Formats: sequence, structure tokens, C-alpha cells
Amino acid sequence: MEYRLLGNTGLNISCLSFGASSLGGVFHDLSEKEGILTVHTAVDSGINFIDVSPYYGFTRAEIVLGKALKEIRRDKYYISTKVGRFGTDGKKSWDYSGERAIKSVEESMQRLNIDFIDLINVHDMEFSDLNQVINETLPALLRLKEQGKVGHVGITGLPLENFKYVIDRVPAGTVESILSFCHYCLNDDALADYLAYFEEHGVGIINASPLSMGLLTRRGAPAWHPASQEIMNYSRKAVEYCEQKKYPIEQLAIKYSVMNPRITTTLVSTTSSANIVENIRWAEAPQNEQLLAEVLEILKPIHRQTWENS
Ligand code: NAD
Repeated sequence: MEYRLLGNTGLNISCLSFGASSLGGVFHDLSEKEGILTVHTAVDSGINFIDVSPYYGFTRAEIVLGKALKEIRRDKYYISTKVGRFGTDGKKSWDYSGERAIKSVEESMQRLNIDFIDLINVHDMEFSDLNQVINETLPALLRLKEQGKVGHVGITGLPLENFKYVIDRVPAGTVESILSFCHYCLNDDALADYLAYFEEHGVGIINASPLSMGLLTRRGAPAWHPASQEIMNYSRKAVEYCEQKKYPIEQLAIKYSVMNPRITTTLVSTTSSANIVENIRWAEAPQNEQLLAEVLEILKPIHRQTWENS
């Protein structure tokens, strides 16, 4: 496993990392036992960065992850969780106030069975008033950092321009990393245009969703996936082409995302221990350049087409 530094944080992170959203049952039902085994397998196989949120499964992902973490030495992993996006009783909710952020961090630590969070993020800023993030959420997280409860502070979201908006308006060093998703995968590499900006500002770069939240898998995207029918259709064509060539599209997609050394890490999610082992193997194997070129050609009509977060 290759490890890369996350901006100026000093965190040396595996280039493939574990996203715990699926522990909340967001893609399909899960066996808790298998989910816990998947976390243990990931860490035993060299993954040292785990990302979660109170939003995933409306706290379930943090609860299941907390059970898994109980049995892992604390110096074996860095944990990243978030504030701002929540849900209860089947209803999504958002609260980016400083007060809620502080309470949320305490609640996450309880669910995760830990007393320190390595990276705390503002979750999906597109649902916030960005000026509230600048004036309230981030200052609250900085206070937690001063108190030693969190190590580093980051921001996440889908529209890339929001990262720049916020970083341009806060004191240097406030935002230590960004977490972008579905913008550095086979169908969309828009994150590439922002790398130089983040590097100039000393901001670490985390990429999530190399399989485009399931679009680039043989199983296909979950029903809630916000992509247009056109994106779905072209993604399906790419999946079928790889099937014809007897090459897993997931392998092509994971390698594509981890290959860029300017991106510290790529978060992939699964509740299958066999999948995580395979994903790590694929991250380490050479890329199939010929097939990559052919698949990028198939996906060209929807290149960088995106959607609204929901
Ligand atoms: P992903 O691209 O990792 O896709 C997950 C899907 O791929 C699941 O259905 C999983 O079962 C499937 N999969 C994984 N490995 C597979 C394999 N070997 N073979 C076949 N199918 C496989 O998308 P994601 O879950 O959205 O992103 C990963 C993580 O990134 C999340 O868990 C989360 O931690 C983070 N993330 C954060 C944000 C945010 O902060 N706003 C947004 C998206 C993702």
C-alpha cells in the first residue's frame, strides 16, 4: 500500500481508504458482523483512514463502525467524521450552527467509542449558507481543535466551486483538507482543474466515490442515485463493455482514482470483506491502459456531466 501526506496535516494516509457509509445500509441491507469484519480486514490490510458521518444510515454507520473500532488499536487508523448533515425517523435534516457542530462531535465520539477525532469536516456545504460555514461552523470546529478534541478541520461537498469560495474567505490554515466526491472517476475528472489551487493553499485533497456511488459497478447504482438517465445509460454501456472484455470495471475505476499522486487518498465503500481485499489488490496492480482508453471513449458523451446533491 502506498501512503501519501494529506496537505500540511502531517497525516500519512493510505492511497486507498475506507468509506463507512455502507455500514449505515445506504446501498443495501448489511450484515453487521460482515460489516465489522470488513473494517478489520481493511485496517489489517494497510488502510489507515476511515471516513464516516452521523448522516450515514442516520447514525447507524457510526454505531456499527464504533463496534468495529473497539477491537482495533487507536494508533492503527485515522478517523474522519462530519457535522452539519443529519437525519432521524426517515427524514433528512441539516444544521450548520456552531452549537450543533460542537454537540455533534461529542455524539460522534460516543458512538465511535473514541475520545479524539483526527479530521472533522463540514458535511456537504451545498446545503448550507456558505457564510454560516465561514462565520460559525468552522470557528466552532477550530475551538474544538484548540481544546484538543479534534486534530484537523476540513470541508466536503459536491460543487467544487464552493471549496474555493470558503477557502478564499477564511484565514490561511483554517481549512486543512477538502473531501470531494464523484469528481475524480472514469466519467468525471473535474477535480483535476482544482488541484493546483488546493496545493497552492496547502489544502489536502481527499477524493471519494471512485465507483461514482455505484454507477461504475456491475450491480449498478442504487435507486436513490441522483444521476440523469443519460449518465446511467452511458455508465451501463461502459460496464457491459468491460464485462465483454472479462475485466471488472471496478478494477479499472479504482486504479484510475488512486493513480494520481496529487490526490492523497480515494475513499471506497463496501460491507464485504472480500470486496475490500479485492479493491486493495486492484489499487496496487498496474492499470489496463488499453481498456481505460476504450472506456473513457465510451463515457465521453457524459464526460463531467454532474447532478444535484440530494
Ligand atoms: P463508491 O464509489 O465507493 O461506491 C460504493 C458502491 O460500490 C457500493 O454499492 C459498494 O457495494 C460497491 N463496491 C465497492 N467495492 C466493490 C467491488 N469490489 N465490487 C463491486 N462493487 C463494489 O461510493 P461512496 O460509497 O459514495 O463513496 C465512498 C465513501 O466516500 C463513502 O462511504 C464516504 O465515506 C465518502 N463520501 C463522502 C461524501 C461527502 O462527504 N459528502 C460523499 C460521498 C462519499
